[in-house]
Amino acid sequence: MEVRRSEYELGNVKKYSREIGTFISDGSKNRYAFELIVENKPGIIFKIGELFSNKNVNIIHFTHSDANFNEAAIFVVGDFTGADISPEDIYEKLREEVPGVKEVKYAGKVGNYFFSKHLYPITVDGKRVVMFGPANITGLLLGLRRNLGYAAPNILEHIGFSVGEELYKYYLKSRDLTVTDLPHILELLRVLLITYGWGVVKKAVHTDGNIVFEVDDLWECHFYKKLGVNDSSRYVLGIFKGLFSSVFRKKVVVKETQCINMNGPTCRFEIYVF
Ligand SMILES: [Zn+2]
Repeated sequence: MEVRRSEYELGNVKKYSREIGTFISDGSKNRYAFELIVENKPGIIFKIGELFSNKNVNIIHFTHSDANFNEAAIFVVGDFTGADISPEDIYEKLREEVPGVKEVKYAGKVGNYFFSKHLYPITVDGKRVVMFGPANITGLLLGLRRNLGYAAPNILEHIGFSVGEELYKYYLKSRDLTVTDLPHILELLRVLLITYGWGVVKKAVHTDGNIVFEVDDLWECHFYKKLGVNDSSRYVLGIFKGLFSSVFRKKVVVKETQCINMNGPTCRFEIYVF
């Protein structure tokens, strides 16, 4: 069987986690958070960074909105331990001395958390997304099993299948990608999985009758392991099934032949087209 050119194998890629939320745990009393509205022009981020650094304030978090508009929102958290300036003075300096800064405020604070009042909603590829935290994930993967018993994994797979069909419409059909663009589709899948924090595709091979790809750290299996659920992927497997059924317009069977929940190094999916 001929192995097509989309084959790629990634070595051990070093991962760096990324804090997305604007809630920053305030473990130290010396942390202060500021929200700025600035003109969207080059050098402003540098100027803000310079001001903090010159006064020995360690920036522990820095987020800004998309720079597609005339102005941008910035959320910055500084640790003032050992700093040569007070939070009140840096507040004044941000307002008075950094050109392009239009507005400065202390960020909202509830209990031990700072949060941004501006950085909302969250988008990926210009489309609104919402995040699923531990409660949502546990409810979906563990709670559903507790409440529905044996039916739960099948229901999860069905939901996944519908999601896969929608994924096809949003990302593939809209780009006129068809089965002849399989290498591109697999690349796109890799991008989506890493962008949404779902896992890292380490290998993708397609031959005439099937596709094999391996995902490192797939969230569903990762959480099964963590929650003590003895199962391999159901929801994500359903998504792949729905997605590739739509791509091939044929019946496909998806099997997870290796799983981190069965002591495998990665989760390996084999997709057969009939
Ligand atoms: Zn797995």
